[in-house]
Amino acid sequence: MTVEQTEEQKPVREIRINPIVPTESVLVATARSMRPRKAEEPAPRDTRRHVETCPFCRGNEDKTPPQIARYPKDDDWQMRIVENLYPVLGDDRSQPSFVYGLQQAIDGYGRHEVIVDHHQHGIAVHEMSHEHLSSLFHVYQQRMAELYQMDERLKYVLVFKNFGPAAGASMAHTHSQIIATPVVPQNVHDEVSYSKTYFDRHHQCIFCSLIDEALTFEATIYDRGSGEVVRKIDVGQYVVEKGEKFIAIKPFASRYEWEVHILPLQHQSNFLDTAKDDLDDLAQVMQRTMARLDAVIGGAQFNFFLHSLPQGKESQSCHASYHWHLEICPRTSIPTGFELGSGLFVNTISPEEAAEQLRSVQL
Ligand SMILES: [Zn+2]
Ligand SMILES: [Zn+2]
Ligand SMILES: [Zn+2]
Repeated sequence: MTVEQTEEQKPVREIRINPIVPTESVLVATARSMRPRKAEEPAPRDTRRHVETCPFCRGNEDKTPPQIARYPKDDDWQMRIVENLYPVLGDDRSQPSFVYGLQQAIDGYGRHEVIVDHHQHGIAVHEMSHEHLSSLFHVYQQRMAELYQMDERLKYVLVFKNFGPAAGASMAHTHSQIIATPVVPQNVHDEVSYSKTYFDRHHQCIFCSLIDEALTFEATIYDRGSGEVVRKIDVGQYVVEKGEKFIAIKPFASRYEWEVHILPLQHQSNFLDTAKDDLDDLAQVMQRTMARLDAVIGGAQFNFFLHSLPQGKESQSCHASYHWHLEICPRTSIPTGFELGSGLFVNTISPEEAAEQLRSVQL
C-alpha cells in the first residue's frame, strides 16, 4: 500500500453525502485508527496463462456448463458465454411467491451466465489489449440486448466482474458474470429515481454536472523555495483518466478507497446505445485506469459493474436524467461491524488524495 504520503496532511474527518443517492453517505476518516483492518494482505491472485485442470481454459470446453456463445466461433476463441454451474437465479423451477406471517418470498426467477472474458487464465484487465477489451464491451452489449429481448419479465441485466479472491471471485480464471433479474435492483432504482428528482429541479443531468465539476478544478503549482506561482493547470481534481469520449473520475463520496467511475463524456442513458467505435475509447480509458489502480495498489483485486437505464416502461421518462456508467471498486479492506451496523461506508483515504496518486502514475 502506498498510502503513507497522506501522513503529512491534516486528517480528513467528514461525512460525505453521495450526490446522486443522498440516502447513502460515506465517512471519510483518514486518521490512523481506522486503518488496522488493512493489515491483512489479500490472498495473492493466480497469474498463470494456462491451467490443465481449469474448465475455463482452452481445450476444456466440454467441462463447462452448456455454452451459449463463443467469439470467434473456432477453437481459438477469445471469449465464451456459458451458463452458470451454480446459478443464484434460475428459470427452471417455478416456485410460487409466498407470504406467511412476516415472511415474504418472491420466486428467484432470472438468468445467471458467465462470460469467460479472455482465453488466458490469469490475465488482468490492464494486461488485455484495447482490441480485446473493446470486443468484450461489445459482447456485454450483445448479450444484454438478447436477454432483454428474450424475456420481457427480465427488468434488469446486470453485468459485473469479480477479480481476485479479495473480490469474491470463486474461479481464478478471468471471467465476468451476467445476472438478469425480474426486478430493478435497489441501487439502480435509487440512482434512476434520485437523478430524475435532481433533473426535475435543475433541468440538468446530475452525472453531467458531476463531470463538469470534476473537470473545472484548477491547480496552482508553487515554487517550494520562493513560494512563487510556477504554473497554473486545469487538471480536474477528481479526474483519473480522460479519453475522447470517456472519463474516469474518483467520486467525491467514494465508498471504497480506490473506487473509480467511468462515464461517457456526452450524455447517454443506456450502455446499449454506445456506438461500436466509441467502445474503443471506453476500452482505452478502462485499460489505463486499471493500469493506474494496479500500479498504486499493487495487484488490484476488484469488482466492477455496469449501471445503465433499465428497459421497462417506468424508465422511459428518465433518458435525459440518467447517465450510464461503470463503477470499479477495488477491494483493499473488509467491512467492519461499524459499517454493517451503521450502513455508513468508511473510507480511510481522502478521494482527492487518491485521485492525485492515481493521476501521478507514469504509464
Ligand atoms: Zn483457466
Ligand atoms: Zn448526463
Ligand atoms: Zn451507479
